[in-house]
Amino acid sequence: NITRHGVNLARAQALAAAERADYIARNPISQALAARAGEHLLFGVPMHWMNDWSTPFALTVHEASGASFTDADGHAYTDFCLGDTGAMFGHAPPAVAHAIAHQAARGYTAMLPSEDAAPVAEELARRFGLPYWQFALSASDANRFVLRWLRAATGRSKILVFNGCYHGTVDDVFVDLVDGVPVQRDSLLGQVYPLTGHTVVVEFNDLAALDAALAAGDVACVLAEPVMTNIGMVLPQPGYWEQAQRIMRRHGTLLVIDETHTISSGPGGYARAHGMAPDALVVGKPIGGGVPCAVYGFTADVARRVERAKRDAPPGHSGVGTTLSANMFAMAAMRANLEQVMTEQAYEAMFALADQLAAGLRGAIARHGLPWCVTQVGARTEFQFSPQPPRNGSEAGAILDGELEQIIHLYLLNRGLLITPFHNMLLVCPQTTAQDVARLLDGFERCLSALV
Ligand code: PMP
Repeated sequence: NITRHGVNLARAQALAAAERADYIARNPISQALAARAGEHLLFGVPMHWMNDWSTPFALTVHEASGASFTDADGHAYTDFCLGDTGAMFGHAPPAVAHAIAHQAARGYTAMLPSEDAAPVAEELARRFGLPYWQFALSASDANRFVLRWLRAATGRSKILVFNGCYHGTVDDVFVDLVDGVPVQRDSLLGQVYPLTGHTVVVEFNDLAALDAALAAGDVACVLAEPVMTNIGMVLPQPGYWEQAQRIMRRHGTLLVIDETHTISSGPGGYARAHGMAPDALVVGKPIGGGVPCAVYGFTADVARRVERAKRDAPPGHSGVGTTLSANMFAMAAMRANLEQVMTEQAYEAMFALADQLAAGLRGAIARHGLPWCVTQVGARTEFQFSPQPPRNGSEAGAILDGELEQIIHLYLLNRGLLITPFHNMLLVCPQTTAQDVARLLDGFERCLSALV
């Protein structure tokens, strides 16, 4: 009897086979649509990673609203994935729907600022505490642009990231530590020039390594999530960020905080909630209520250095920006979302539900005697396959178990409960109810009973 992470493997695999059969029987319309999509979509899906879900073929969404959606076969789901944060404030929040409907007949993109630009920037400055802002179409783009600005502003060529990080499809960040040695991520496609020359990588929560890596004075900035969320969650140890920021300041290295996922911590993100003082900050995904857009902000000092770098550069292409960035449609969505949806009140409700969820998951794990733990960052909760929370990317990576994750995810999905693929993350949104959480916990409990 082989067990993995406390689970009887043979039993889990038998459960997986039954769940796959169930899924196929339940979803004939999704199956037919997937077959049709296979005729003209590469990999049979609009994005290749849509094949990486736990399902035998892609589940086709019919429509989504608030915390729920229906599929093409007419099943209803409670959504704890919420577009992996893109829909963290609910699907089609009414205020955003209204704003974009209003904008829909008034133009989408003109390469000129709309009347929403100044109010949006004012609100960003108020809530994130950074005075100067720019826009992009995705968090990936925002991160890429910030790296470019900060290399230009500091005249330093290198950046530093934490092992196991993800900041979108940003070439510079795909460097891992393998047995202590920086190595370009081997899964990258078409990466024809080496990335290790200008990217330094250290483990999260290792102050001595950070200090040593910055000592040469050639690192422009550290790009980091305040809590790692993409390799399973890794919390900063008490006092870590305070010390880390002191080290960065001593070496003249700027700190860029990517709040794209940790915006689950509150209306001003994790940094604001925990008294951090980043030099730059990025938020993508849910900032426009799910409409494609992202924002990045700078302190006054960094903004001045960035403006000077632009002024001093020869005229021509900066390498920053895309034609549709800051378009009128996205601006209208952001304004509505910031002013009416991403409110203190909304967060209060989400935090209470996430607390209920985390406590319930811990209870179920304890009742089944599993060596798992639960990590929570505001409205974001995750169960992880180790008795203690991981302290860095290497530890977090070592406990990932794609096979076991997929079995649990598919079991829940067949019972109308969607959680985020690739790890065990659950989000709640303002429309999630206590009953939704209770249903998730009931499904989880049953799943563990089937597994253990
Ligand atoms: N930053 C973080 C922290 C992310 O988790 C992600 C995506 N998961 C991104 C940036 C990139 O977002 P996008 O794919 O929307 O560009």
